[in-house]
Amino acid sequence: MSKTSPSSIPVPPLPDLRTELDALKADLASSGLCVPSPERHHGDGSNAVLFRLLPGLSPEYQSKLESMLRQMPWMLLPLQDDAYPALRRLQDKIDELAHAVEHDDLTGLARRAVFEQALDTEMERAKRSGRSLSLAILDIDDFKRVNDICGHVHGDHVLCSVAEILRRNIRRADLAVRLGGEEFALLMPATTQTSAVFLLERIMNAVRELRFDCPEHIAADQAQVTVSAGLACYKGFRDMLPLELIEQADQALYRAKRAGKNRLEKAPLRDISPELSPRTLVESAEKNFLFQGLAT
Ligand code: GH3
Ligand code: MG
Ligand code: MG
Repeated sequence: MSKTSPSSIPVPPLPDLRTELDALKADLASSGLCVPSPERHHGDGSNAVLFRLLPGLSPEYQSKLESMLRQMPWMLLPLQDDAYPALRRLQDKIDELAHAVEHDDLTGLARRAVFEQALDTEMERAKRSGRSLSLAILDIDDFKRVNDICGHVHGDHVLCSVAEILRRNIRRADLAVRLGGEEFALLMPATTQTSAVFLLERIMNAVRELRFDCPEHIAADQAQVTVSAGLACYKGFRDMLPLELIEQADQALYRAKRAGKNRLEKAPLRDISPELSPRTLVESAEKNFLFQGLAT
């Protein structure tokens, strides 16, 4: 006896995963694309095939991908839409879990573990390329007050709005992270201190302009927040541990808080080119002074 009521849409039963894998194996074999190569043999003598389903891949894009990946041990096999529903569901689940491991539930920003890995990689890259890496740590000012007067739910909305401002203002190469609580980090590869200051000021202004929903009895001027930020830069001229750069940005943030919040503080540039002798630095400071003096 069927369990579905006559009015409900009958859902076809999902074939079992093994059946689908066998069908896929047969598809691959008949396509002629799956050529067993001795170097890809595993210890147990079986042939391993690593694949990824790309639902909705158009024939034009498929041929583009094929030409892009010609030199690589990849292969593309056009599949009928939803030909492998169980595999597709499995893949969706894997994608979902991978996303959850790397992203914060509330704001959708990257988690601290992703940040630590990226910082390590980008510091290495800065060392090799000699292009400045900027790191900012931002903390919402008096956030406890938002929770106290507006409630935790509104507090959560504020966190999401600030995260959205970060996301909207950064470039594709930048990484926005929720470090925890109301603290965020921005990792900006190939970005000088001057460009990072420009970007951070834009972000801090957008936060100042943000007006969030609050219970009615709360005065309008309470429905806003500010952030403080600490900025540190690495040019790759000397060896430095990622933790040191974090520490520098953290200390700058601490100074911003001590100086009255709602401001940006820069860590002193300790990572100076060996070509810049102290004498050169003094000269450039004099030039700056003269330039600013003449400009005003
Ligand atoms: P400061 O300007 O010195 O940073 O003060 P603050 O009030 O922002 O900092 P404090 O560390 O005193 O308080 C942080 C608050 O952030 C306390 C905690 O309840 C709140 N918080 C942390 N995580 C969350 C969250 O996920 N949602 C909400 N609504 N609040 C959070
Ligand atoms: Mg805070
Ligand atoms: Mg904090």
